[in-house]
Amino acid sequence: MNSNEQQIDRIVSNVLRRVQSQAGAQSEHAGSGHPKSGRAAVMKAAGHVEICEFPLREIGPDEILVHVEACGVCGTDIHCYKSDPFELAPVVLGHEGTGEVLEVGRDVKMDSVGKPVRVGDKIVTSILDTSDACMIAKYNPLKSNLCDDLRVYGLLPNEPDNHFNGYFGDYVIIRPGSSFFVVNEMSVDLRCLIEPAAVVCHALERAKNCGSTLNFRSRVVVQGCGPIGLLMIAVLRTYGINNIIAIDGNSSRLEMAATLGADELVNYKDFMGIDDLAAKVQSLTKGLGAHFGFQVTGVPAAFSNLFKCIRRGGGICEVGHFVDGGECAINPHLDICRKEITLIGSWVYNSFEYPNAYHFLQRAEQIGLPVCSLITHKFPLDQIEEAFQVNLRQEGVKVVVQANRLSKSKQ
Ligand SMILES: [Zn+2]
Repeated sequence: MNSNEQQIDRIVSNVLRRVQSQAGAQSEHAGSGHPKSGRAAVMKAAGHVEICEFPLREIGPDEILVHVEACGVCGTDIHCYKSDPFELAPVVLGHEGTGEVLEVGRDVKMDSVGKPVRVGDKIVTSILDTSDACMIAKYNPLKSNLCDDLRVYGLLPNEPDNHFNGYFGDYVIIRPGSSFFVVNEMSVDLRCLIEPAAVVCHALERAKNCGSTLNFRSRVVVQGCGPIGLLMIAVLRTYGINNIIAIDGNSSRLEMAATLGADELVNYKDFMGIDDLAAKVQSLTKGLGAHFGFQVTGVPAAFSNLFKCIRRGGGICEVGHFVDGGECAINPHLDICRKEITLIGSWVYNSFEYPNAYHFLQRAEQIGLPVCSLITHKFPLDQIEEAFQVNLRQEGVKVVVQANRLSKSKQ
């Protein structure tokens, strides 16, 4: 066979494979009836979301069609809604989502940890394939969270033939190369918390591996009791850290912090300034300051303040600044050098940390931490703007949007 014939042969066999695969994919969902269309909440510009109906294309042999059940609203969604800092619009947001597998392409056999995947399974998704062009992701897969082109469903630009790219809609089409996990044993509420749980599991891993300051004897400060701060408290408690000091300015969030494992609650509004607040933390830590602090607010000044609450030889993990909130002042002598502080950053998570995240949530429930109580509000998809507004007004903690069409059909 000459090279021309070889090439023709390869093209013909590729075309045949594709035709066969498509026939296979179609026959697998022929019985259930492929939905013709579905709704998606399109953020057309900052502050403007519209529910649109789009045709739903057939899935390919290596894709999965997911019928969305619910999706948490993340601080990142709210930043996008306020000002679209990543210039994604028009976009279908929603990355803390979960749903039921409606169709499986014939070449898809198992999830990212080797569990078989079938129609009816409950799944969550993590990071899509990282970019081949990114040197960090390519040469250090354990740091793929630092990829230049980190992508998750719900923060992807729209495509001409597919608007089902985020969980604020009826469907998501899972593409080849995405990481996804079958989690049938978990309630829908718990599944909505896996993504933020992965954020705090990653922060805990970073903190554990930075030195000897985080162990069973540690006194730990968690500054900021939003959804991530509260989950941070729960993961520390589940991990066996008992002396946790929660700092926030909202008394109902502090009460929730207590149910999730904090044993000291500090409302910063009760103190005159940072020196006064630091003195309080010192009084709770034998006059020395905490061994370790997790900074989980998006306020730059809070980051500078946390140094005053940490003892010499202690550590700090910055996990709150997911968007650029600006700069803050630090005294390099007093805050870092003289105290020999170990300072680490924590950014998102790796997809291989998802199993860790769902084991954490299950264990937390087993030891009596009411992690699902973080979900304080639920809205149907057509009230998504109200869900965003509740979040903007900082009412409650975690707001969830439900694809109500599915809930109706299930009742
Ligand atoms: Zn998020």
